[in-house]
Amino acid sequence: MVVSGYKEKEGESLTPFYNLITTKSAWLKHSVKPWLKTGTEDELASRPYNTERILHYAAALQLVSRKTTIPVPRLIDFGKNDDGTAWIELERPRGVWLDAVGDQCRMPAGKKHVADGGECDECDRIARANARRFIAEEVVPQLNSLTSDTTGLDGVVIPPLWVQFHTKTAYWPSKKSASGQQEYVFCHGNLHGHSIMMHAETLHVLKIVDWEDAGYFPPEFQLWSVERSDYEDLYENDEQRKRLMALMM
Ligand SMILES: [Zn+2]
Repeated sequence: MVVSGYKEKEGESLTPFYNLITTKSAWLKHSVKPWLKTGTEDELASRPYNTERILHYAAALQLVSRKTTIPVPRLIDFGKNDDGTAWIELERPRGVWLDAVGDQCRMPAGKKHVADGGECDECDRIARANARRFIAEEVVPQLNSLTSDTTGLDGVVIPPLWVQFHTKTAYWPSKKSASGQQEYVFCHGNLHGHSIMMHAETLHVLKIVDWEDAGYFPPEFQLWSVERSDYEDLYENDEQRKRLMALMM
C-alpha cells in the first residue's frame, strides 16, 4: 500500500547514539562505540549508554506490547555483538512523523485546505490535537499503570536527555523505593513530535517509537509534548531539571 506523504528516505544515517539503516520495510539501529566521533569538531561526540539504549528499546517494546494497547513498531529481533555494541531490527511503520505532517496538505484532492497542496497549518493543527488527546487519554494512563519499586530498566538508569543535557552527572545508580511501594512509573523519556508517527491520511496516531530512554522513574518524570517549542523548553528549565535530579539521588 502506498501512503501519501510517506517521505522518510531509505539509506543510512549516523547520530551520536547509533547508526540507522532504513529500508523499505525495516529500521536497523546499531549502537556506535563510545569513542567514535560523528565527523567534524563541531559535531557531538557519542553519548554514554549507546549499547544500553538499544537494549532498553527492545525491552521497552516487549513490555509495552505485552502489557498495554499502546501502538508500537513490531520488534523483529535484537542482540549484542562481540565488540560490545548492540543492534535492533524493527518493522518500519508506514506513517509520517508528527513534526512533518504540516509539510503538505494531507487531505484528498478536492478537499485540500490550501490550494497548491503545500505546507498546511490546518493539517498540522488537526494532527497535533489528535496526538495530544491520544497521548493524554490512551498512552500516559497505561504507562502510569506499569509500576516498579526500582528506577531504570533491567538495572540501568538512563536519564532523559532533557535532564542529562546540561549536567555532568551522566551515570545514575538504580534506586530502590524507600517505602517498598511500587512508586515508580514507566516513562517513554523522549515523547515528542519526532517519536510520534501519524497515519498520513487519517492524521491519527499510528505508532509511538524511539523507546531508547524508557524506564521506571518517579511520576514527575512523565513529561511529554506534541508542540516542538514546549518540548524544547524541557531542555532549558533549570529549576525543573534540578528538582528531578534530586528525586533520583
Ligand atoms: Zn491540510
